Amino acid sequence: MRGLRRRHQRASRMIGGGRPSTRSLRQSRALHDALHDSPPPCTGDTRFTHDEWSPTELTELATICHSCPVRTLCRAFADAERPTAGYWAGKPYPPSKEHQ
Ligand code: SF4
Repeated sequence: MRGLRRRHQRASRMIGGGRPSTRSLRQSRALHDALHDSPPPCTGDTRFTHDEWSPTELTELATICHSCPVRTLCRAFADAERPTAGYWAGKPYPPSKEHQ
């Protein structure tokens, strides 16, 4: 849970520290609630907070996210927050044309 909180804080910094939108807060709460009892498989994996990845890492991270039980909520959160770095719900942010 701490890892996810750190990622949310990092996401907030990556979007410029501006005030989060209502939609973003709603997505954040939904994701937080879903993760209350079980941490996501990305917890503690620092590759998810990088800005660049090798092709092998991208494949590995996609595989991890593919099996994540909160992937849909994570994607909704990332799409609402629009982080400028990190790997969220199966794609790197900001998404390149290849990953949109
Ligand atoms: S979808 Fe991926 S980035 Fe999102 S919580 Fe799950 S493992 Fe972590």
